This record gives sequence, C-alpha cells and structure tokens, in this order.
Amino acid sequence: MLTQVARGVLVHTSEFCRSNAVVVQGADGVLVIDPGVLEGELTCLASDIRELGQPVAAGFSTHPHWDHLLWHRELGDAPRHITAVGEGTVRARLSDDGARARVATMLPPEFADRIPLDLLGLVTGLPADATEIPWDGPTIRIVEHQGHAPGHAALLIDDVGVLVAGDMLSDVLVPMLNLMGAPEPLDDYLAGLQLLENVARDVAVLIPGHGAVGGADDVRSRIDRDRAYVQALRADRDPSDPRVEAAEAGWEWVAGVHENQRRQLTGGS
Ligand SMILES: [Zn+2]
Repeated sequence: MLTQVARGVLVHTSEFCRSNAVVVQGADGVLVIDPGVLEGELTCLASDIRELGQPVAAGFSTHPHWDHLLWHRELGDAPRHITAVGEGTVRARLSDDGARARVATMLPPEFADRIPLDLLGLVTGLPADATEIPWDGPTIRIVEHQGHAPGHAALLIDDVGVLVAGDMLSDVLVPMLNLMGAPEPLDDYLAGLQLLENVARDVAVLIPGHGAVGGADDVRSRIDRDRAYVQALRADRDPSDPRVEAAEAGWEWVAGVHENQRRQLTGGS
C-alpha cells in the first residue's frame, strides 16, 4: 500500500528489511525510486500506480546493491537510471552469466523464493556530471557520494523538501560502509554525511532506504548519530548505539553487521 508523505510523494514499506519504495508524481507519469523486493509487493506497487492513473515514466536505483536494483514487468519498461559510477559497479559485479545465481545464494532464505531476480540490475547510468533526474516532473537533485556503495545517490525533491536518503540515515540500520575495496571507507561515509548535512535545512521529510520515514528533526539527529557511529568505528570505541545495543526484535543481526565492520577495519582483531 502506498502512503503519501508529501505532496506528490508516496512510499511503500516492504516486509523485507523495511525497504522503502518511493513514487514521485510528475506531469505525465511517476518516477519509481528503489521499487522494492518481494514479488507480491512489486505487483501491488504496480497496481497502486495504475490506480493513480499515471504510467511509470522512469525508475531510479539509489545504489548498486541487489535490493535496490529489482524491477517487475508490471511496472513497464520505462528507462531505469542509476549514477554513472553505480552503473559501472553493476556492470562489474552483475553483468556476467552467473550473476543472478550468485545473488540468489545471498538472499535471506525466508524470502528467497519471493524475490524475482529476472530483471535485476537492468539500469542505465546517467551522465557522470548529471545533477538532476532527467524527467518531466518536480526538480530532483542528485546528492552523490561513495559512502555506502560506489556512486550512491540521495535524491532531494526540492519543492516539497523530501530527502530520499538511500541506505543512509536509517533508524534501524547502523551506517554500513563500503568495505569492498574502497581505500578510505570511513572518510567516504563522513563525506556523504556532510553532503546530506549541507542540504538538511531544506528537508522536511526524510525517507531512508530502510526504516521509518522521519521529519526535519530526525534528519539532524540521524546525521549526528550516524556520524558518531562512524567516528566510534574509526577510534575502535564502543559506539553506544541503540541500533546495536537495544535493537528491536528481529533486528538483532545489526549487532553482527557492526561487529563485522569493526573487525574488518581493525584488521581482524
Ligand atoms: Zn545498500
């Protein structure tokens, strides 16, 4: 079910990892950002969009991770965008014949048979210098950084003050660094947070990739909390972060994500 969070901006939250799919209404069609994960939810999203009376004009993936790269034929065959760097990563990791079988082994078993991989990663990179989404709708600024994944894009819908944060600023997930070969993952993440902070005063509604939608106050507090977490990782200090130490039922695995990051950054100790 789609819920309106601002004028012309609607969200569907998945049963899988509280993933947020975002629909933005344009002049002659909608933009679908990170459409979701489960088959039934993707078809439900397509049905809800049909009820809005607008076709899908374009899609956008905030970053090159599998759970943000899915699509469903019922959403149509509009162009699906990603940043240029994001496309390069998709090509490097997901363009070979064995890619879908490899991703299938990474899926959580309780969801695996409900996740359609047939249209995984069929995205096209925007020009490297693109600063806005090319479409006939409200201006959507691209805030690109390397913090969570190569070519990660947050999107700022200017006229309604909505920040689609991608996999940053979550109330349930700690910052997850790009530890797949980036030379300075901590600096990359802090630089990404700085870019978000630079636009924070324009934000009234925050939509994270996973977790609860927030308001203006949440933008400030989640930036501060994510920065404190990353700085604790850098110093190999206990982050004292409720997402690690007091996780909601069902989210206890986030402590394992934290421990894994700590171990990788400290060389395995
Ligand atoms: Zn991600």
